[in-house]
Amino acid sequence: MAGIEFLRPGDEGYDESRRVWNAMVDRRPALIARCRETQDVVAAIALARREGLEIGVRCGGHSVVGLAVPEGGLMIDLTPMGAVRVDVERRRAWVQGGALLGALDAATQPHGLATTAGNVSHTGVGGLTLGGGMGWLAREYGLSCDNVLSCEVVTAAGDVVRASAEENAELFWGLRGGGGNFGVVTEFEFQLHETGTRALSVELEFPIADGVADAASAMGRWRDLAATAPRSATYAASVMRGVVTLGFVWVGDPAEGREHARALETLGRPSERRVVELSYLDLQRREDSIEGHAIRRYWKGHYFHELTDSAIDVLLKHDPSVGASLQAYGGAIAEVPDDAMAFSQRATAFEYVGAARWTDPAEDATRIATARESAAGLEPFASGAYVNVLGDDGVAGVRRAYPPAKLARLTALKDAVDPDNLFHLNQNIPPSTAAHS
Ligand code: FAD
Repeated sequence: MAGIEFLRPGDEGYDESRRVWNAMVDRRPALIARCRETQDVVAAIALARREGLEIGVRCGGHSVVGLAVPEGGLMIDLTPMGAVRVDVERRRAWVQGGALLGALDAATQPHGLATTAGNVSHTGVGGLTLGGGMGWLAREYGLSCDNVLSCEVVTAAGDVVRASAEENAELFWGLRGGGGNFGVVTEFEFQLHETGTRALSVELEFPIADGVADAASAMGRWRDLAATAPRSATYAASVMRGVVTLGFVWVGDPAEGREHARALETLGRPSERRVVELSYLDLQRREDSIEGHAIRRYWKGHYFHELTDSAIDVLLKHDPSVGASLQAYGGAIAEVPDDAMAFSQRATAFEYVGAARWTDPAEDATRIATARESAAGLEPFASGAYVNVLGDDGVAGVRRAYPPAKLARLTALKDAVDPDNLFHLNQNIPPSTAAHS
């Protein structure tokens, strides 16, 4: 057990290690195994099996419901495995399983390179990539999971294997979108792209109080523009505290982005217009504070294959205490054949997240109920959900993330690689012996 460090309740560092992004999560593992190398993960899995301890796997700790932290179990803390190695010539990055997105971007951007990563730099590469990985580069280069070339995995049996198109191909298929169900990934190999280092953000604000009809017609036009937008542009919107913000993020030459922004003049007259040039690295960190730690959170997500006028009307009447955000898919995401890997719902036009945030525990029940209610109003327009924003949705959530044929293939893979469901603290795909109920 070369570099492994064990932490128990009361040990220095124990509370820091078990603390995750959502302040609602306050679980206490019996043991935390801080792993520094692949063999530490092998040892931790063997120990958990011997002692009959439930396993949680922690990378960035951003699972909204804190799936990484097992109450009374063994948490495999991968955060000491956060290194990133880049081969500039071959445009490849090897990223350890506990790395944060910020480390990946920081290692690649000095060379003008990047691969798709999410929008908040303290999110983990591990959970994000295994569930899909949506970011500002995805319409151009595909999701994070589309850019994975191989993985090093510790299986439930404690074997260290490589998974790629050539080796353990079915496992590789399942790892790209199937979440943490099939093993602990200790290293990802990513394809990098020449993205440059510049970006542009365009945001127009329309107060809903000035008339739902005006805001709705602006949003309808914004939706229509998104459908034909160039891949450098990812259309994004939010509805928050009586204001709808419509715009896009452009990665590449900001002058071209500004040119594209002229199309938005047809939306009507905004109360506020923000056009900001920034580096790609700053773009990737821009939401770090607002999406910071130590706040109580509740999220609900939907995929929309189509954003109808009726859905827009409901969105604009969203409870003002629940922030709604939309991000456009399409482009390279939609070009990957649906059966290429576990990730599903590639026909998505927009991803919706309804997010509540508060600090007083006394408000938990009302805040959660309001967020659920807001998201429920949009459910009739939805076509499934992104597995990485599922929360306490259980089996019904997993069924929203994967269509039946995918779920059957994922279940068969689970039967083969983790028949005891050792890795179940995730959006779980149980083996067939524990049939979905
Ligand atoms: P953790 O809680 O550490 O892990 C979540 C689960 O993933 C674990 O329970 C485990 O099952 C599995 N896991 C993690 N690492 C490994 C590994 N190495 N091997 C095996 N299993 C592993 N998603 C997007 O696609 N795009 C975004 O822009 C985006 N932004 C976000 C911003 C914030 C602030 C938050 C909270 C979430 C965001 N998400 C985004 C959703 C995000 O993808 C998921 O929350 C994801 O699970 C986070 O991964 P993590 O490693 O940080 O989480």
